Amino acid sequence: MARHHGPKCRLCRREGVKLFLKGARCHTAKCPIEGRSKPPGMHGWRRGRPSGYAVRLREKQKCKRYYGVLEKQFRRYFQMAQRAAGNTGENLLSLLERRLDNVLTICGFTVSRAQGRQLVTHRHVQVNGRAVDVCNYLVEEGDVIRPEPDDAVLDVVRARREEAGHPAPGWLEINDADLTVRVLRGPVREDVTAQVEDGLIVEFCSR
Ligand code: SF4
Repeated sequence: MARHHGPKCRLCRREGVKLFLKGARCHTAKCPIEGRSKPPGMHGWRRGRPSGYAVRLREKQKCKRYYGVLEKQFRRYFQMAQRAAGNTGENLLSLLERRLDNVLTICGFTVSRAQGRQLVTHRHVQVNGRAVDVCNYLVEEGDVIRPEPDDAVLDVVRARREEAGHPAPGWLEINDADLTVRVLRGPVREDVTAQVEDGLIVEFCSR
């Protein structure tokens, strides 16, 4: 599975926003974005207004980095979104939001998407009673997601869920008693957690 191996905070500093790539640290004062962070590199500060191309590129990069997908995979999602009926930008964000590693994170089972990916690739997550080890699995209406019934895994997930404590997004239903998540419907634009302008991403990818 291809993934980014470099410094994570650098990605947030490049985009100038929190992408929540490091779990608990992202919510503390240690996050560089909390201070006066400058874009990485010796030419970090640029004068003048960015071009239209630069604005659209940054929006696409922000979205890709937020969900932890690389360029080739992102382009594949874009093609799927174009083929589907409806608004391409909304379809794209809905596809990304349905990734299994993202679902684990927004439900508070893991502190970051990277941790969600690790949990999945180590076969600690089941969908409809079967172990799934691909983090780009796209959940569907009616799917039931749960950690594997192993005490060590359940303890870790329960502790994280209690720490997170936030309610489930509208398209998911969490049962805290047995740590299961049921997919009620596909995510719509209002359910999307990424703070991105999908129109700019579509403009960039349609060139
Ligand atoms: Fe680093 Fe997290 Fe802050 Fe991003 S949000 S800069 S990953 S601490």
